[in-house]
Amino acid sequence: MKKTILTGIRPTGKLHLGHYFGATKNWVLLQDEYNSFFEIADVQALTDNFNNPEKVRESVRDIAIDLLAIGINPEKSTIFIQSMIPEIAELTIYYSNLVTIARLYRNPTIKTEISQKKALFGNDGESVTYGFVGYPVSQAADITAFNGELVPVGEDQLPLLEQCREIVRKFNSIYGETLKEPEAYLSKTKRIKGLDGNDKMGKSLGNAIYLRDSEDEIKKKIMGAVTDTNKIKKDDPANPDICMVYYYHQLIKSEDLNNICNECKKGLRGCVQCKKELIENMNKFLNPIKEKAKYYEDNPEIVDEILINGTKKAKKVAENTMKKVKKAIKIDYYD
Ligand code: ATP
Ligand code: MG
Repeated sequence: MKKTILTGIRPTGKLHLGHYFGATKNWVLLQDEYNSFFEIADVQALTDNFNNPEKVRESVRDIAIDLLAIGINPEKSTIFIQSMIPEIAELTIYYSNLVTIARLYRNPTIKTEISQKKALFGNDGESVTYGFVGYPVSQAADITAFNGELVPVGEDQLPLLEQCREIVRKFNSIYGETLKEPEAYLSKTKRIKGLDGNDKMGKSLGNAIYLRDSEDEIKKKIMGAVTDTNKIKKDDPANPDICMVYYYHQLIKSEDLNNICNECKKGLRGCVQCKKELIENMNKFLNPIKEKAKYYEDNPEIVDEILINGTKKAKKVAENTMKKVKKAIKIDYYD
């Protein structure tokens, strides 16, 4: 039997190269080996975007299109929308009795995120919402509703999975062996850097190339990418290891990498030429993804059908878990 893997994606924008090389590229490979569920976590996205529902709504479709465009195959994988499965919200309520507020506040991921969200919560954290600190509980519901055995995570998200495992253990110890304890599927890929040289490419950092950026956007972004600042003239030798243009040449596996590197070191290659080559290669790399995305953009009813069918399939699994959970908690009245 294939193991079940549950992947959650918060719909708060489109996917960029950081997502692709950092995570989503591997998901495409995993779908053959595992029973894969892809949850578009709109309820979770609303915990810190409750005042911006349009953004979440629009992004649900964008994420679905991006996933299909990179090669997530709806014949193999189940793509579904979190809010369309009320059992997840129901489970969250029961699990919330099994975790203390103090424990949630001590969760390192939550701690970091609260301090990063000063604009939303204020410096003193006074306006941190119940929904936000509680999102690890809802995440435990996401995972267990589908009997998730593996959850792909980056290192920064390990504390969330640990929280889920604690809830599962507590549930099983009080109500009897009911839920499966999931394990982390730790991504081996490193953080992908931004165009500005920042250690992380990120939406909110404004340093990202999106999978569906137009050729004009790609050109503008790459022409502005950070290179070795010591190189002033075209024939100055430079250090490719601190150049973002060389970094992306490597990332998308441009041809003649050794040549690019040597020419740069020897001052035989100007940055403008190097950027133009990267633009060309980036277009070659992204065009097939964009073409596939365009097909889904032009045929929104196909995307709808995939989401409706995926959600139906996922809901059946969640209903089954809900039954077991209600029975265990002895609230299975008149079943
Ligand atoms: P924001 O700036 O709004 O936080 P983001 O660009 O960081 O957005 P998220 O939606 O927070 O995107 O990313 C979700 C997940 O995607 C991260 O937890 C991480 O696993 C992965 N990811 C995002 N950016 C990168 C990156 N630059 N390199 C590797 N993985 C990334
Ligand atoms: Mg982020």
